[in-house]
Amino acid sequence: MAVVHRLFRLFSPFTPAKNNLSSFLIRSLSSSSPHGPSLDPEIDLKEAAAELEKSSSPSSSPSWTKGRNFHWVFLGCPGVGKGTYASRLSTLLGVPHIATGDLVREELSSSGLLSSQLKELVNHGKLVPDEFIISLLSKRLEAGKEKGESGYILDGFPRTVTQAEILEGVINVDLVINLKLKEEALLAKCLGRRICSECGENYNVACIDIKGGDGDDRMYMPPLLPPPKCESKLITRADDTEEVVKERLRVYNKMTQPVEEFYRKRGKLLEFELPGGIPQSWPKLLRALHLEDDKQSAIA
Ligand code: ADP
Repeated sequence: MAVVHRLFRLFSPFTPAKNNLSSFLIRSLSSSSPHGPSLDPEIDLKEAAAELEKSSSPSSSPSWTKGRNFHWVFLGCPGVGKGTYASRLSTLLGVPHIATGDLVREELSSSGLLSSQLKELVNHGKLVPDEFIISLLSKRLEAGKEKGESGYILDGFPRTVTQAEILEGVINVDLVINLKLKEEALLAKCLGRRICSECGENYNVACIDIKGGDGDDRMYMPPLLPPPKCESKLITRADDTEEVVKERLRVYNKMTQPVEEFYRKRGKLLEFELPGGIPQSWPKLLRALHLEDDKQSAIA
């Protein structure tokens, strides 16, 4: 735990201050995590949450139907397509898509001893410490708030029950979309994932064809190939190897599946089984979210 404390101190760029989202998240973490560092043992989580709700949200019960002030979360195993669908919805609805995996990768692209220690965790399929992720997310939310952002679609957060409890104390999450796909497809999708090192776009070279049977339909997902401008710039994520993907799936089942239950109990979980690739899944997802109309389906 000493390592976690050290990481927290080094990565936390914030000066605690009341009504500051960053410091609130960090303070919440300190007070709610049984293992977390104690910045301020006096802090009352509920009181601080109320302060934050007042300062950051004009409505006492934010709802996505009221405009852009909505807070959605995407859950799902590695490779399921959280990034793809969260990013499409973010374009459609005009709210930012915040992927903690992207924040982590950006942060770890810098050099230094700490970065390389954290890279070790990520490249072996382990989660990074809650303190580190809360610090990164807080920084991103604060920057967004300064730009006038009032809602977001989170992808990759929360990933532990501690993170879910902290988020619940800060914001009223409106909806949690739990994407599901057969494990065979998850592995193939991770191994086939390619990213353009220049524009950051995601592609997939895998052609997934899982035979039906036992009441299951055949699942076909064609490759999502890059356009010529990206072809020579494709890279593979260091954690998309077979061994590491299997570890990420194991970690998901152990650490993140309880988060599904956390939201199920609160009536916020929408289970969504992907029927195949984007052409089949996207219109179905829009229908499940009551977002379908001709204009919206046209961008599928
Ligand atoms: P995945 O495809 O496994 O869902 P992500 O791109 O979301 O991958 O995340 C990549 C890595 O970043 C994770 O394996 C983990 O090490 C780290 N990470 C991202 N989000 C979190 C989080 N909320 N808590 C802890 N670690 C995280």
